[in-house]
Amino acid sequence: MTAPLISITLSAGVPENLSILIQLAEFWKIPYSQDTNDQANRVKVSSGIPIDEKTGGDEPVLIIPSSSEDFRELANKYHLRTAEKRATIRLPIAPGASTAVRTTVTEFQGSTLEPLLTAGAVTLVSRVQGTKENLVSLDMVTEYRRFLYEGLEDEPSRIFRLISSMPISYHLVPRPLRNWSLRRTRHAAKPDEESIGPLECLRTLFLASIVLASEGPVPRIGFWERGKEYVASVTHDTESRKGLEEGAPNLLEVETKLGIRSTWNLPSDRYAVSTPVLRDLAKVGDIGAHDTRHDGRLILVSLEAKTQRATQSKRKLELTGNTTVLGFRSPLLQHSRELLTAVEKAGYEFDSSVPSWEPLSPTSQKPHGMGTVFPLQIDGIIEIPVTLPQDHQFLRIMGLSPRETVNELLHLSAWIRMIGGACIILVHPDYEFGQPEYQTEYARLLEEFRKDPQCKIMTMKEIARWWKMRNAAYIDISNGVASIRSGQNDPAVGTLDLQIVTGYGSSGFEIQRDDSEATEMERQALRGAI
Ligand SMILES: [Zn+2]
Repeated sequence: MTAPLISITLSAGVPENLSILIQLAEFWKIPYSQDTNDQANRVKVSSGIPIDEKTGGDEPVLIIPSSSEDFRELANKYHLRTAEKRATIRLPIAPGASTAVRTTVTEFQGSTLEPLLTAGAVTLVSRVQGTKENLVSLDMVTEYRRFLYEGLEDEPSRIFRLISSMPISYHLVPRPLRNWSLRRTRHAAKPDEESIGPLECLRTLFLASIVLASEGPVPRIGFWERGKEYVASVTHDTESRKGLEEGAPNLLEVETKLGIRSTWNLPSDRYAVSTPVLRDLAKVGDIGAHDTRHDGRLILVSLEAKTQRATQSKRKLELTGNTTVLGFRSPLLQHSRELLTAVEKAGYEFDSSVPSWEPLSPTSQKPHGMGTVFPLQIDGIIEIPVTLPQDHQFLRIMGLSPRETVNELLHLSAWIRMIGGACIILVHPDYEFGQPEYQTEYARLLEEFRKDPQCKIMTMKEIARWWKMRNAAYIDISNGVASIRSGQNDPAVGTLDLQIVTGYGSSGFEIQRDDSEATEMERQALRGAI
């Protein structure tokens, strides 16, 4: 007999913490509710010490302390010691792949504790013997919020403000001067799983703790279409008329041969874009907006002016190209929560301006990024992060050759593939890959995705729509059977991937695919429909 499926009750003393718990549960799409009186087979997840003291009950409780008082109070209650330390936490997520985050842990220590989850020398989750209470040594809720919302901001540096205040536009600043400060990070650390995906480690900790504390199978919805492990998308920001006229055809030649549709982000008012050129591009790919004049000042202007620019670039490109523009990419990958608000107000469906991580932001003169390689809904808009550092960072800032750049991109993609994320590629037609002599290197990059049956290559618009559809779906457990439901009448719902997490160990999550007959019938019906 198989164990009954587990669902989760979320609670928090602080409302903002509850919204983070919901974000964590929504990422995995595990069944959850906020109703503490719900029926059996539940594990209770609490940010902060649970208010309703129903200890000794039947349901396991996972307590995530949310302040230093919480850690102290729990230590007093169970006669434990605590030890605070900085540590790099590394957790396996899938066979051969781990996630990592550098953070502060407050380890509980005492003879009455039974360790449930450890990472190296650090115990992350312990059970109090003789109880169903499980204590987490890391405030993953606060850390998640900090990484995400601090990562969304990229505060302009003094030197950036100074250059921007000059009566010339950013791209007219002589290139050697502009690149001087950028080159200082030439020997910067290469991106790795700790820099591009710290949120992935906190999300892994969240689900692993629930699986271990509940000892039961937890259903979840896979990230992508059934049968595909990860996705890739090719995007281009076209900086100059030369890039559009000379570089773009070289990139398109490679993409057309491989049958790949890409997303072309264009500034609406920096150089003249003719109607035929734009219409041709809209036929072979999607058009996205890349600000109006691309002067580097978008991040500095008011919310109203940001909204106006985003609106103007959308309208003009739509009108000229006789197409719909649903995505925005800001110049220099400038980003802030306010800019996201502006993009949403301007009527876009998604934004793709925030890198997962890059060694150097021209705006803040620091490394920057939101720390995840998955799309995320923020304040009503889908953000699809630029998950692989753009070509400019490797070629011009780190000083790599096109061949070395492709090697780095493929190396990072291998990790994103293993954890099931989205490989978002940003290549400019204005730089090396837009030149005929580097077409073979560009082809080598794209072929890797094209030949992989586990990969689905999508345009950015398709990814945004898929993620919205997945967001709207949920798991319903009736009579012990899990099924995926949605209020949306979208045939793609039938291609969502129901998975059962049966355990967590040194190879990450142990997963059973749902192979029930009903699903197989649905699958066949769907194939017929397509
Ligand atoms: Zn640009």
